[in-house]
Amino acid sequence: MSINFIHYIKKSAYGAFFNSKIWYDNLIMKEYVVQLLGWTETQAEELGGEHKKWAILLVGPIGSGKGTQAELLAEKFGLFNFETSKIIEEKIKNADASDEIMMREKNNWETGKLNTPELVKQWVLEKIEELHKQGSGIVFSGSPRTLEEAEAELPVLEDLFGKEDVKIVHIQLTENESIKRNSHRRICKANRHPIPNFPQFQNITTCPRDGSELVTRSLDNPDVIKVRYQEYVNRTEPILAFLKERGYNIIEINGEQSIQKVFEDTLNNLDG
Ligand SMILES: [Zn+2]
Repeated sequence: MSINFIHYIKKSAYGAFFNSKIWYDNLIMKEYVVQLLGWTETQAEELGGEHKKWAILLVGPIGSGKGTQAELLAEKFGLFNFETSKIIEEKIKNADASDEIMMREKNNWETGKLNTPELVKQWVLEKIEELHKQGSGIVFSGSPRTLEEAEAELPVLEDLFGKEDVKIVHIQLTENESIKRNSHRRICKANRHPIPNFPQFQNITTCPRDGSELVTRSLDNPDVIKVRYQEYVNRTEPILAFLKERGYNIIEINGEQSIQKVFEDTLNNLDG
């Protein structure tokens, strides 16, 4: 299907003739991989269709492209792309006004303060169980972030999905490369889709997925990235030793390659 045709459908027919949201999202994803990742349309067409009931955990520092890889894996294997921030948002938005604890959490969330870790942990586990009940596989790119979270989540994942279907992918990236990639990278305003700081993306002015404005976050300056990278080394990386001890074979991926190559390496290792 040509990209012009996709544009034509988006402009003229969405809602009128095609009311399948899944089909529409699928089209957008294909357009995204063609425009943003430079894939051929054939490569884009091949994305999707498979359904795996896996729980894939992507572990890697800021700038390793976990978010993008999670989206591609979700599309490829029909997985739910698990974003903790969205789970929190969903909980807050559906909170009962008479629930005092939830109103306190809502206030934290609205004023930019962190939500209570104990509660977030509980919400995450509830959502995992809900997804499993629906028959969905899951890809995680921002959870677990700490050893404590891993200790809570892994037994639940193993119990629900079976240990052999819990897959761990470690995307490696040095601090220097992380800083290089993240300085002044842009995200879209509507859905925080990341636009990596790669030369081929420099001419993009609006989000290829939803057309919203692209912004640079104050978080993405070199000093903040250094702190976030160290936070990752100190607090998130220890998860890998914990998982090894638990008997996992960790899939090691060189994150200093193109998005395409990282994705291919991951696919080649997932089945094995
Ligand atoms: Zn977007």
